[in-house]
Amino acid sequence: METQPLASQTGTLTPNNLVNPREETYFYILLVLSIFIWACVVISVVGIFVVLVLTIAAWFTHGLLVARLRSESVLITPQQYPDLHASFVESCQRLGLDKVPELYLLQHGGVLNAFATRHAGRNFVVLYSSFVEALGANSPMIKFLMGHEIGHLRRKHLTKKVWLTPGMIFPLLGEAYHRACEATCDRHGAYAADDLPASMLALTVLASGREASNVNTQYFADQYFTTRGFFVSWHELIINYPTLSQRVAQILGFADAKYAKRPGRNPLAYICALFFSAKNILYIYLAVVAVSILISLGNQVKAKEAAAAAQLQDNSSSDANAPAAQAPASSDQSAPASAPANSIPSAAAQMPSSADQSAPATNAPSSSGGH
Ligand SMILES: [Zn+2]
Repeated sequence: METQPLASQTGTLTPNNLVNPREETYFYILLVLSIFIWACVVISVVGIFVVLVLTIAAWFTHGLLVARLRSESVLITPQQYPDLHASFVESCQRLGLDKVPELYLLQHGGVLNAFATRHAGRNFVVLYSSFVEALGANSPMIKFLMGHEIGHLRRKHLTKKVWLTPGMIFPLLGEAYHRACEATCDRHGAYAADDLPASMLALTVLASGREASNVNTQYFADQYFTTRGFFVSWHELIINYPTLSQRVAQILGFADAKYAKRPGRNPLAYICALFFSAKNILYIYLAVVAVSILISLGNQVKAKEAAAAAQLQDNSSSDANAPAAQAPASSDQSAPASAPANSIPSAAAQMPSSADQSAPATNAPSSSGGH
C-alpha cells in the first residue's frame, strides 16, 4: 500500500461547514412543492383519509421491524462491547448530539453497511458486524461510519424526508436532495473521525471490502474526475448516493482544493435521467391512473350527451305530429340542452377526488419504505 498523502487532521472541516450547502437549497425547493401537494391532499377529504390509513400502516410495520432489530441484534452498552460504545459516545459528543441514541450490532451475512432509524420518538443507529470486524471497534474509520449515521439524526433527515415525500416524486430533485444529505453526513463522519485519510479509507471499504487497505484512496478519488461521460453522468443523476469515488474526492477536497471541484456532466444525461430512472414505474403508474380517469370521464360525458340528444330527438319527432304545438316544443329544447351542460360540471367535480386518491396512495408507501 502506498503512503497516504494526507496528515491525520480534518483540514478545513469545522462545525460550521458540516452541512453541504446544496442540502439546504434542495430542501427549500422540495418544501415548497410538498406544501402545495399536501394542501391538495387536505382539500380533498379523501386524500386525508388515504394518507392517514397508509401512515398508520407504515408506523405499525416499521414498529415491528424496529422490534426485530432491538430483540435480535446486540445492544452496545458500556458493559457490552465497551470500546465500540466509547467510540460512539465520543462521536456523539464531538458532533453535539445531546442524547446518545441506542446503538446495535447486527450480523447480516457479511454485508458492509450501517444505518440510522427512528420510531416512536426514539433514535437508533445500527452497525453491521462485518464493518466492525473489518475496521476495528475504536478505529477512526468506525468513527467515520458512526458520525455519518449521527449526521442523519442530527440533521433530522428521517423526519424531513417523510414530510418532503410528495416533492420527492419529481424527477431528479428527490435524488439530488438524497445525495446532498449523504454528502452532509460524510462531512459529519469525517469530523467525528478527525482523520481525513481514515474517512476516505472507510468509504473505500464500501467499494473494495477488505482489499481497501491495498487501495490508494487518492487514485480512487482521481477516478471521479477521469471517469466521466454520458453513462456515468446518467448513473450519477438517478442514484440516491454520490458515487463512492465522488464521496472520497469530496472528503479529500477538505485537504486539497482541487478535489473540491465538481466536474461537469453530459447534458444529454439530464434528459435521460428525467425519463428513465427507478422512479419510472411510479410515473408510469400515475400516468396510467390519470389516463384511465380521463377516459372514464370522457365516456361518461359522451354517454350523457348521447342520451340527451336521443331525448331531444324523441321530443322533436313527437312534436312533428302536432304542428300546433311547435312553439312550446322549441322552448322545451332548452331543457334537454342543459342536461349535457350540467353533466360536465358533475363529472369535473369527480376528477379532483379521483386524482387525489391516486396520488397519496402511491406516495405514502414510498415515504415509509424509505426508512
Ligand atoms: Zn447515509
